[in-house]
Amino acid sequence: TQEVHIIGGGLAGSEAAWQLARRGFKVRLSEMRGASADKGGERTPAHNSDGLAELVCSNSFRSDDDEKNAVGLLHHEMRRCDSLIMGAAAVAAVPAGSALAVDREVFSAEVEKRLGALPNVEIVRERIDTLPAEGTTIVATGPLTAASLAQSIGAATGADSLAFFDAIAPIVYRDTIDMDVCWMASRWDKPSKVGGGVKDYINCPMNKEQYLAFHQALIEGEKTSFKEWEANTPYFDGCMPIEVMAERGVETLRFGPMKPVGLDNPHWATEEHPNGRWAYAVVQLRQDNKLGTLWNMVGFQTKLKHAEQVRLFRTIPGLENAEFARLGGLHRNTFLNSPVLLDRQLRLKSAPHVRFAGQITGCEGYVESAAVGLMSGLMTASELAGRTWQAPPATSAMGALLSHITGDAEAESYQPMNVNFGLFPPLHEVSKKARKEAYTSRAKEDFSPWIAGLVPAA
Ligand code: FAD
Repeated sequence: TQEVHIIGGGLAGSEAAWQLARRGFKVRLSEMRGASADKGGERTPAHNSDGLAELVCSNSFRSDDDEKNAVGLLHHEMRRCDSLIMGAAAVAAVPAGSALAVDREVFSAEVEKRLGALPNVEIVRERIDTLPAEGTTIVATGPLTAASLAQSIGAATGADSLAFFDAIAPIVYRDTIDMDVCWMASRWDKPSKVGGGVKDYINCPMNKEQYLAFHQALIEGEKTSFKEWEANTPYFDGCMPIEVMAERGVETLRFGPMKPVGLDNPHWATEEHPNGRWAYAVVQLRQDNKLGTLWNMVGFQTKLKHAEQVRLFRTIPGLENAEFARLGGLHRNTFLNSPVLLDRQLRLKSAPHVRFAGQITGCEGYVESAAVGLMSGLMTASELAGRTWQAPPATSAMGALLSHITGDAEAESYQPMNVNFGLFPPLHEVSKKARKEAYTSRAKEDFSPWIAGLVPAA
């Protein structure tokens, strides 16, 4: 059988390898992390390990609600396609309310274990510096594609790679959080999908005075400086630094990541309010590993200087003695203008033996990247099996995402995109209240016949 060369062992590359190998195709999966120096071993500025499918920032795959949420629906569809990433996530899940969050080390180890167990997958630790001139190839090197390969891709596409900036949030050691000040609770006591608990988050309360002072300090805090060419690079809205959000107005954070509603603080209980009262603003932390020793500051991605982060975040009530396992930071994001450069099957129009997958195609997020990896694996399998490829229905989350990337998006203003109902063919006739459920039930119905037509597992 012909071998498929997959470059990049992240979320998309690992998932593509799984989909192909499970259908009997041979895969060579090249990953530069963990390679020896003579094989070009290096880590991106965001990766901290050599494990496959490392989650570089948050440990969350976001909402797992497949009835009212587009990313939850994407989870559902991926599970129905026997997704490696969803399978490993189930093993590594930690409590996170209605979200799906994982212990990142358990997750990565599980991905590696499952792929490693397939005899037709060869995981090779090596950096690839040029686009292969021939042979079926999937490029899944992510937003931080190594420089020489990025150049080679730039040369082949004849287009300047677009870039923008994302910021990552700090992680705190649990035993350095003062629980006499903070408390555990999920907003509105909503039960967790994992374990059913209603107290998944650590909450740090602020009164009005503390909030206003913190807001001011964020604005005045010392930021990482930009190089001149980076100065006009835009942020992706879903990952905006906390201090940039603060600049938008004094209330922006209270209606965003520091929202206090639905969180009764038992430390502030009174006779009149025996369950406690709401704070003026709240900083939330979410469990980041199975052991529960690491907690992620939700929505606190930042480009403040490291020393400044420590100083400022220790003014948050309950975090006065916080120790940080990782501080926030800023990173480059490289992606193709896919609507122009790729065909409907994610193939480079100018070199159709090369497919792209993952964030480099301009989708945004762990789940979306893995989903595009999954589809690129299925497309390649269908091509090698001599079948005509049928795209997933445009009414499904996978179909909507794929349509967006491969042609429906505006090429001129193309920006990385999370899956959302705005990408689905509209259902104007359904009342707004019932619309989300209408999207998901239509998607589930349309998805079944499509799955039945896929190249079967060997
Ligand atoms: P990756 O997971 O990055 O995988 C690409 C792999 O290719 C890496 O393992 C890399 O080492 C390897 N590689 C690169 N170049 C070469 C080469 N030349 N040869 C061989 N191997 C190579 N998404 C979220 O949903 N939530 C978040 O909180 C989040 N935060 C992010 C924070 C940062 C700092 C970054 C960079 C991205 C973040 N994203 C987040 C966006 C995105 O979902 C992730 O980047 C996701 O990992 C993308 O999956 P991928 O498979 O496309 O790329």
